[in-house]
Amino acid sequence: MKMERPLTKNIRPGQPPASIQEYEESGGYQGLRKALRDLTPTAVIEEVKASGLRGRGGGGFPTGQKWSLLPPPDRTAHPRYVVVNADEMEPGAFKDRILLEGDPHLMIEGAVLAAYAVQAGVVYIFLRAEYSAAARSISKALSEALDHHYLGKRILGSEFHLEVHLHISAGRYICGEETALLSALEGGRAIPRAKPPYPAVSGLFAKPTVVNNVETFCNIPGIILNGADWYQALSRTGEGGTKIYGVSGRVKQPGWWELPMGTPIRELIEEHAQGMQEGYRFRAVIPGGASTEFLTEESLDTPMDFEHIQKVGSRLGTGTIIVLDDRTCPIGMVHNLEAFFARESCGWCTPCREGLPWVTKILHAIESGEGVPENINILKEHTHLLGPGNTFCALAPGAMEPLASALKLFESDFHRHIRERLCPYPKPEWRRAHG
Ligand code: SF4
Repeated sequence: MKMERPLTKNIRPGQPPASIQEYEESGGYQGLRKALRDLTPTAVIEEVKASGLRGRGGGGFPTGQKWSLLPPPDRTAHPRYVVVNADEMEPGAFKDRILLEGDPHLMIEGAVLAAYAVQAGVVYIFLRAEYSAAARSISKALSEALDHHYLGKRILGSEFHLEVHLHISAGRYICGEETALLSALEGGRAIPRAKPPYPAVSGLFAKPTVVNNVETFCNIPGIILNGADWYQALSRTGEGGTKIYGVSGRVKQPGWWELPMGTPIRELIEEHAQGMQEGYRFRAVIPGGASTEFLTEESLDTPMDFEHIQKVGSRLGTGTIIVLDDRTCPIGMVHNLEAFFARESCGWCTPCREGLPWVTKILHAIESGEGVPENINILKEHTHLLGPGNTFCALAPGAMEPLASALKLFESDFHRHIRERLCPYPKPEWRRAHG
């Protein structure tokens, strides 16, 4: 049986994005027609709830439930907002870029359906600054959708009106945190907000707001057109739908694939990424972008979905795997990740602002053969000091996940660097070039 690829069926890598005609010919905007003709906003939310769709940005919160948290439209000031979080910047993640560059109408239809469901009047697409090709494809698609009456006043002859705006991000990782994103969109400094109140109650300009990731919105048209049962049946586990998985690292064929939710890690690496390159052996993976814990060989048969990955001690996150091989220094890899998080800390709270540069400095010392035995306990202590509950948002606790698991899984490597006063691994090319 041919595998269904509802998210990427129109995407042709290296080719221009799907036009509105191609999108319509593949069933595009039929979900929106159906919703406006046959379904109440509440019925749309119920269908999304029944599908079991969970947010694809990393958090995995049930999407239908998130939408149902908004107060009833007749009891709040308008406009209400929908925001597309397209600020993809997690190291190792590139799935939203593929969707936006290849088939922007899918995200647009999903966002319009979401706006109808929560009775929003305005959608903002908050796009990563560096995604200039995506900005071009979205702008063209928005103008096509407006011309075809999928946006604007009286959409498809209904009483539903909607404005959609593309906003280019200021270019910081923290803008992907939903409340920091809202602050940035309002023109303020991109720092997270205290919760509660949650954006569902007081979000953009203090109005009820839904923020979801690009891939999450791309799932909506298929769910509304084909129903929750169809969506559930796409998956290999209890979590519905398909997922865009990615694999990077020393594999023969790094890339991305849309596959049933719950595809095992081993299948992704050995079949789709065609296994390790000659001369390299598998050592571990970070399963869902940089802010998740390492998993080793014994977890390779774990289905890649939210529940199963959590059971083996990590998180699905973005579903984009980074492979660690036996010739790459795990300390160098973690140092590289922590340097990224330290640079991207918004500086609002002390443990993260001061702690991440300190962690980075210690890792650099150990990697360069200048570490001392006490460094290991200091690093372990920081995984608690910067852990959940001690910082204002999840950036620092997320940054501690690869470090904490590296200290457990590769502790002997840390000791060896300190004992031998050198890094025993070959220096990767990019490090040789940049010192
Ligand atoms: Fe900012 Fe880091 Fe504190 Fe989050 S944890 S608010 S990124 S300083």
